[in-house]
Amino acid sequence: MPRLQRLPSGFVAATGVVVVGRRRRSLSRGGAIAALPVGAAVVAAGGWWWGALLVAFFTSSSWLSRHRHYDAGAQTQQRRGSERDWVQVLANGAVATAVAMASQVLPSPVRRYCYPAFGGVIAAVTADTWATEIGAGSRLPRRMITTGHLVPAGTSGGVTTRGTVGDIAGATAIAVLAATGSRCRWAPGRPSRLLLSITVAGVTGSLGDSLLGATLQASYTCSDCGSMTDHAVCQCGQNASLTRGYPAITNDIVNLAASSTGAFVAASLSRALGGYDPVQGESLRSYQRCSLRRLRKTGDADDGLADRSGRSSPSAGTGG
Ligand SMILES: [Zn+2]
Repeated sequence: MPRLQRLPSGFVAATGVVVVGRRRRSLSRGGAIAALPVGAAVVAAGGWWWGALLVAFFTSSSWLSRHRHYDAGAQTQQRRGSERDWVQVLANGAVATAVAMASQVLPSPVRRYCYPAFGGVIAAVTADTWATEIGAGSRLPRRMITTGHLVPAGTSGGVTTRGTVGDIAGATAIAVLAATGSRCRWAPGRPSRLLLSITVAGVTGSLGDSLLGATLQASYTCSDCGSMTDHAVCQCGQNASLTRGYPAITNDIVNLAASSTGAFVAASLSRALGGYDPVQGESLRSYQRCSLRRLRKTGDADDGLADRSGRSSPSAGTGG
């Protein structure tokens, strides 16, 4: 049974963030409406620390969007404005919301991978945004991730050294925040394992974003002004012609794929690193205390897969 006591307070917190985001022109009206249920659902299903990761992504990305400086000669128009619309909010938030919801309904052996997966999603979207925003001001040559050819700034799939540094920094920042929360009962897991799996997931997701951007994502060139764009209609009003990729694969679809990759990589890596992570609602410390007591009792090490339902816990007074 999903615990939804946090839903009202989640809504209040999300409203606060959305109002600030709207006032600072980080969200369009539609973006604000879409961000409310995302924030509320993440806090309600995941917990406050999950919400904190979401806020870290949103505030850092918004701040970078407002402070980016484009090359004077950049002939691109990838900037959709710094206001995020509802499609962008959902492209970045849908997988995060799904993972948070899953953490409430999946059985505990699988549930314990939800928090790393959520961290992986946030790390991937943060890494991608930081790479784009920080790389946007780079004067260094921008190369296509697939061919290594020089491309104009803003081209999907184009990478710079500065952008790559931003990418790794974004993933690491989220991983550090996620690992910091591992002592609290909303954010279970071992710090070192979370740090490693979430950083790798973030960088991998963002890399996947660039690879898809360079191959399958629709890219158009305006016949009138010659600028490259992600949209079929150029900012100058003229129709642009498709030069690469498939029309159905938009930047938002690529973002969705990148965040799914982040979730998958973080969960898989967390599993591959082995051992037993506490599940939601159980702090690492209380898990360690309990497993130590059980270790003394049985004289045998726990393989980490045993059913925990029979285990007595000092705080298990609720009795399910
Ligand atoms: Zn044009």
